[in-house]
Amino acid sequence: VNKARIVIAGAGYGGMNTAVTLSKKLGPNDASITLVNKHDYHYQTTWLHEPAAGTLEPDRTRVKIADVLNTSRVNFVQDEVLEVKTDEKKVMLKEGELEYDYLVLALGATAETFGIPGVHEHAFTKWTLNGARQVKDHIDAQFANYNNVEDKHEGLLTFVVAGAGFTGIEFIGELSERVPELCKTYDVPREKVRLFVVEAAPTALPGFDPELVEYAMNLLESRGVEFKINTPIKEVTASGVIVGEGEEIKAETVVWATGVRGNPVIEKSGFEAMRGRVKVNPDLRAPGHDDVFIIGDCALIINEEINRPYPPTAQIAMQMAKTCANNLIALNKGSTDLETFKFDNKGTVASLGGKQAIGVVGSRKIYGGTANFMKKMIDNRALFILGGPLLTLKKGKFPF
Ligand code: FAD
Repeated sequence: VNKARIVIAGAGYGGMNTAVTLSKKLGPNDASITLVNKHDYHYQTTWLHEPAAGTLEPDRTRVKIADVLNTSRVNFVQDEVLEVKTDEKKVMLKEGELEYDYLVLALGATAETFGIPGVHEHAFTKWTLNGARQVKDHIDAQFANYNNVEDKHEGLLTFVVAGAGFTGIEFIGELSERVPELCKTYDVPREKVRLFVVEAAPTALPGFDPELVEYAMNLLESRGVEFKINTPIKEVTASGVIVGEGEEIKAETVVWATGVRGNPVIEKSGFEAMRGRVKVNPDLRAPGHDDVFIIGDCALIINEEINRPYPPTAQIAMQMAKTCANNLIALNKGSTDLETFKFDNKGTVASLGGKQAIGVVGSRKIYGGTANFMKKMIDNRALFILGGPLLTLKKGKFPF
């Protein structure tokens, strides 16, 4: 039998959910399904600010792929995707290659540096599980060093977050919550620690409701966070960041969160892209490539209401996975009548650490404990969709 070969690259929100749906809806005689991912686990990218700041065990954010995916239906390959050769219908891996009839690219994002010098050399840019562990270990080491170095130079305990978007705010929320405990553990006077958020735009959390932004900033400031808004970073150096007109903030820890671009594999493979993201057709296929779906952070879809792209989120990635799986099933049946992707915005909630959060759900603004409860529910829901009640009980966030 000539079964279609479906290859899914990336086991994040987009890829994992596509693979799980296909494994349930396609029979063994319908298609062969292969999932390729760098690690043998899936991690919750949306939780990474917590292990990065050290407020959650890194293991809580990851799920072994074999524990949630029926591996007798889906062939799992642990490898790194280097490039796609669309004309040969091949995915080139570090250790081999995969041939496909249909491909789903769901490789997530990488840091956007806007060409600012020194970012890759001196800032932490990797929002991955290993990247998060590296940030946490570095923070702990800075505190541990404090009482063991003669020269308590400026910058030793200064932590700069570049970017006051969602990720930057969620990270500083966790870190600012943890600082008192770090000071206690390592015998460091609290006033020796400085926390900065530097943002080029005229406001923190651009695009968010101004009242909620104010709530978040006031709360974070009460924990000692200093905001530098309207302040572009010009350069990152070994000793800190150069901002605005040349002022230097001395800091040995710079965490980069100024937004993302699509995985470099997209551009390397010759897809036409804007900041590494492909403006996909309404059925989520890449223009000119009827056999390639691109979903999640590598895909770009315009919000017609405001004529701007939807921000890359887990929420949209999971919804795309659903449409993508349905369309693959249709194609596999020989149908050309494909579903059009439509984003159903269920709202946005940002955590601020310490049982605090802000958000918009429907048209309702929520704060504090209510928003924190919602945030945990959203996190648990993602687990539920992926692995049902068992996974939710095992890895979920309880009590609220
Ligand atoms: P990902 O979930 O990132 O998955 C990509 C996968 O591909 C990973 O498993 C990775 O290991 C793998 N991979 C990458 N490169 C390769 C390669 N070359 N070869 C093989 N495998 C590879 N969104 C929300 O909706 N709500 C939130 O509250 C929220 N909070 C966030 C907080 C933080 C700290 C961060 C960093 C992001 C947050 N986001 C949030 C955004 C959200 O995490 C992303 O939009 C989402 O993860 C995108 O899903 P994806 O499937 O495209 O990629």
